[in-house]
Amino acid sequence: MDKEQGRAILKRLELKITPKRLEIMSCLGNESLYLSADEVWQRIKIRIASIGLPTVYRILDELAAAGVVTRIFLADRKQYYFLCANQEHHHHHFVCESCRRVEDLEQCVLGEDALETVQRSGGQITSHILQINGICGACSGPQQEALCTTA
Ligand SMILES: [Zn+2]
Ligand SMILES: [Zn+2]
Ligand SMILES: [Zn+2]
Repeated sequence: MDKEQGRAILKRLELKITPKRLEIMSCLGNESLYLSADEVWQRIKIRIASIGLPTVYRILDELAAAGVVTRIFLADRKQYYFLCANQEHHHHHFVCESCRRVEDLEQCVLGEDALETVQRSGGQITSHILQINGICGACSGPQQEALCTTA
């Protein structure tokens, strides 16, 4: 993701375009992996010497609240962030816990029964979070390939 794409996203969401926001977005967007705030900071402080870790946290949280950046939840309970190139459509992610790659899942799996349960009690769903964790095909390694070729 280059700065122009970052600018376009911020503009569409009517968020203020600042050099720090753009730097963080292009950092996350270029990796195609999820990163912690600390890892983002390590990468961008070379270019923006004046930026501190608390600022990186604050901007990541702002971008997450606006829906630009996705929070990634893992068993270690550290906060991770991912910037998906697909900003237009509602979708969910498959997250590899080994190589940190994130794949888009086209299907939303929010079932009718969930909607009905909430509606029956007079409530309404305002948002939902789904993230599937696992080990991707590439990380599952040659074992899997061997199985495929012998089958
Ligand atoms: Zn992987
Ligand atoms: Zn995505
Ligand atoms: Zn969904």
